[in-house]
Amino acid sequence: RTVYVNGDYLPEDEAKVSVFDRGFLMADAVYEVTSVLGGKLIDFEGHAVRLKRSLDELEMAEPCSKEELLEIHRKLVELNGIDEGLVYLQVSRGSDGDRDFVFPSADTTPTIVLFTQNKPGLADSPASRKGAKIISIEDIRWGRRDIKTVQLLYPSMGKMMAKKAGADDAWMIEDGHVTEGTSNNAYFVKDGVIVTRPLSNDILHGITRKAVLRMAAEAQLKIEERLFTIEEAKEADEAFTTSASAFVMPVVEIDGVALGDGTPGPIAKRLREIYLEESMNAAI
Ligand code: PLP
Repeated sequence: RTVYVNGDYLPEDEAKVSVFDRGFLMADAVYEVTSVLGGKLIDFEGHAVRLKRSLDELEMAEPCSKEELLEIHRKLVELNGIDEGLVYLQVSRGSDGDRDFVFPSADTTPTIVLFTQNKPGLADSPASRKGAKIISIEDIRWGRRDIKTVQLLYPSMGKMMAKKAGADDAWMIEDGHVTEGTSNNAYFVKDGVIVTRPLSNDILHGITRKAVLRMAAEAQLKIEERLFTIEEAKEADEAFTTSASAFVMPVVEIDGVALGDGTPGPIAKRLREIYLEESMNAAI
């Protein structure tokens, strides 16, 4: 694999980042994941805008312009021959050559790393045809989940808890309400109404969420953005998650309770189709 690091395209085993990099020492870094379908980037604009917002919220410098970012994404997709897959972009505050809690001076060069993952069959995955089984776990993450930082230890532990319980993923609960999935936004459907938590600092402002809610509204589906409990979701007709890496993923079981007939629901399947078609048409 060819990866990109601080201006260079290199074989992955030749790419280097300082041991003092704050991304490594303090999780002082943000990231984005953009999917690739038919060799093209899905919603690059949305990811670029959110990256800028994450950087601004953390007073981190932009590593390069949006045009350069697009160029790097495209070049890596080409160099690695990706037809279906993902591009990961990580930006850290870099380092001034030592470890300190205090931020290094504002002119410190940020570290920028991009790499690809080849995922043939991403659009028509067996997992999406089967649907996901999820468990619920407590949400013990920090209070700025709207910033897409690389603090992924708890989400990672959540996936492991799910795996140990024989499930695929976990939804997190805070103060009695579902926040989101470990790496996706969460929805249920009851009597034709799609319910999802409203945007705030409690959840990531999903790029896929925004697109799917727009498409659902255009398809005349009813949407309610409100807090909801896991009990409501368990009694739903169907449920699903959204993310750039799995698009619209039907949820067929919550904490051992099958939703509907235990297979992907019609609204989740329809939204997945609409999302894939529209975003592939708009891909760049
Ligand atoms: N919520 C969390 C915690 C995530 O990590 C992600 C994606 O990584 C999402 C939601 C979905 O966001 P997006 O649709 O932008 O991928």
